[in-house]
Order: sequence, then structure tokens, then C-alpha cells
Amino acid sequence: MKTFFLRCDDVTKPDRAFLRVFGLLSAAGLPVSCAVIPAQAGRALAAFFRAQTAAGARLEALQHGFSHAEHAGNKYLKHEFGPARLYKEQRGDIAAGKRLMKKLFGKISKPVFVPPFHTYNSDTLKALASLRFKAVSASRRLNEPLPRGLAFLGTRVTVNEYDLKLKPRPLSLGQLKSRTLAAIREGGGPAGIYFHHDDIKGKNFEIFSEYISFLKNLENRGLARFILASETINLKVAAATFRPHSGRPGGRHTPRRAGRA
Ligand SMILES: [Zn+2]
Repeated sequence: MKTFFLRCDDVTKPDRAFLRVFGLLSAAGLPVSCAVIPAQAGRALAAFFRAQTAAGARLEALQHGFSHAEHAGNKYLKHEFGPARLYKEQRGDIAAGKRLMKKLFGKISKPVFVPPFHTYNSDTLKALASLRFKAVSASRRLNEPLPRGLAFLGTRVTVNEYDLKLKPRPLSLGQLKSRTLAAIREGGGPAGIYFHHDDIKGKNFEIFSEYISFLKNLENRGLARFILASETINLKVAAATFRPHSGRPGGRHTPRRAGRA
């Protein structure tokens, strides 16, 4: 059985687009890991999260950068955290974001960092480790060891895609299903499915609803299970502990493949 987490990106307020997507997932009994932009989030979102959590929703707030600013000067390789920023600038922003997250969301906030645009560098990881983050979640893993105590929570299924003008493309149910089934066939550790609620409107919302039904069907057939991103961290640690046995014939561990950009 494959373990997935569902990551909803660029969350700042409980507006119509967010409430529709969140409502769909929670009605299906699926957990939602919200990547929240600290500097853009406010009390309305905090109140909503607290009320939902009190009512039993499986929900958490991950830190999505600080303000989602673009510092790279390259629209195809954007970054808030990466080579255009000094270590101390990155650390300062991450720390400020962490303070805001704690203040707004308390225990609903988890020490998982989601770098905007999926971009980060070794300074970002060093800053996260020094600020006691437990994980970084992105589509690509850097080709270097992670600092001690920091797990990588990779995304495997990209829901929204964009054209060269960075306009959202229509969702394709067939593509979403085949990506998800490919992730199941690969086996291996937990994988993320991520989406931008703000681009799931109109016809895209209908297709997304069908995709959610497909995910529930996989769950009912025992092929997939869904947990919060932060809940996968301990599984990662356990898998690392068992790594010496991973090469045995018939073993359940298969090599990890790089996630999609
Ligand atoms: Zn984002």
C-alpha cells in the first residue's frame, strides 16, 4: 500500500476557492497539509483552521516560504530561497516566518518547510536545520546529503500544470490517474500530491472532484492511504533505519526516483 500526503499550496485566507477545495477533501475524509505563506496569512485563516481542527478535521499548516517573493530575476527559475540570497538573509526570513506560523496557528503549525517555486539550495537546508525544522517538502531533492534531523518529503504527483506564459493548463483526469498509479507501482516511501487551490475552478474543479473520488477508491481497495505530511516524517526515519536490508530479494524497498519539477 502506498502512502500519500495531499499538499494544498499558497494558502493565505479561507476564501471561496480554498473553501471549495478544502470542503471537497474534508467531506471525503482526506487529510490536508496546507502550505501557508506566513507573511500573507492572517487571523481569518487561523480562526478557520482552529475551528476545523476542533471539529475533528485532519489538517495542518506547513510553512511555505516567508512572503513568496521572487528574488531570482528569472521567471522560469524563480526563487524566494536560493542562490540569489545570502545564508543570513534566508535564515532571517525563515525564522520570521516560523514565528508568524507559531503565533497564528500554534500546534496546527508543523516544522515542515515548503520552499516557494520548489527552489532552494544548501544554505536553505542549513538554515532549516539550525531552526529545528524536521522536513523540507519539494519536487526535487538536492544532490547532496540532508543535514542531520531533516527529512525530505518529496512530491510525486503534480496536479496543476502551467504553459509557457505561466497560465494554468486544463486538468487532465487521465494524466492524474496515470501519475498516481505510477507512484503506486514504484512503491517506496511516502509521496506527495500537490495542487494550487486557486487554479482549481470551474471545469478544473469538476475534474479535481473526479480525481478525489478516484483517490478514495484507491483507498477503499487498499492500494493507497492518506496521512498528513508531518505524519510521514517518522515513517521516513523508520525506513532509513531499515536501509541495510533494502537490497534483499523480494524486499519492499525500491530506489527512489527524482520527483517531477
Ligand atoms: Zn507557492
